[in-house]
Amino acid sequence: MTASETVDDRPTARLLIVGPQGSGKGTQGARIAGGLGIPVVSTGDIFRANIKEGTELGQQVTAILDAGDLVPDELTSAIVRDRLTQVDAAAGFLLDGYPRNAAQVEHLDEFLHSRGEPLDAVIVLDVPREESIARLALRATEQGRADDTPEAIAHRLDIYEKETAPILSVYAPRGIVDTIDGVGSLDEITARIFRALDARGLRVAV
Ligand code: ADP
Repeated sequence: MTASETVDDRPTARLLIVGPQGSGKGTQGARIAGGLGIPVVSTGDIFRANIKEGTELGQQVTAILDAGDLVPDELTSAIVRDRLTQVDAAAGFLLDGYPRNAAQVEHLDEFLHSRGEPLDAVIVLDVPREESIARLALRATEQGRADDTPEAIAHRLDIYEKETAPILSVYAPRGIVDTIDGVGSLDEITARIFRALDARGLRVAV
């Protein structure tokens, strides 16, 4: 079998990674996407890149990100739709940070339904709030992200608990949710995720 056939034969993988701030979504998401040969679509990264480049979008969302508030749903969903229509997402994608509330779930469902492309799995990283806060405090000193102030962190975690965690009750009845214990070494957590994906017929190349 040639390399191109391998790529063509690979099953599509349309995935979400969900977890509180500091749950390790970024690190694990990159490993999953790399192993499956799909792009990570991180709304936070898209917004931060636009802020850095000083685009109109960036100027529009700077204050929102700094406060730890959510960017308006319509705007965020339009950006995601646009990104998912790009050619590199044809064989799948891993969405990180989206959808984050019920309205975004509906937007994503409508979009994927219209394309006949259902989600394959929702990976949930389960991490207690105290652990999240400790990891974020460490990240604040290492990376200096503008929204890693104690106030913005607490606000983002509150939004996660009130608006994001409940979206799982929409996906659970579809039988696509894999809840992974997000406490342990990075490699242990990756292995847990890969086992869950494997059970769904999504073999991750390591
Ligand atoms: P974290 O998970 O630590 O909050 P992210 O990089 O996922 O970090 O998001 C950073 C910020 O970007 C959020 O606080 C919010 O302002 C904005 N953002 C990211 N994703 C979304 C989304 N799906 N809807 C609205 N705003 C978002």
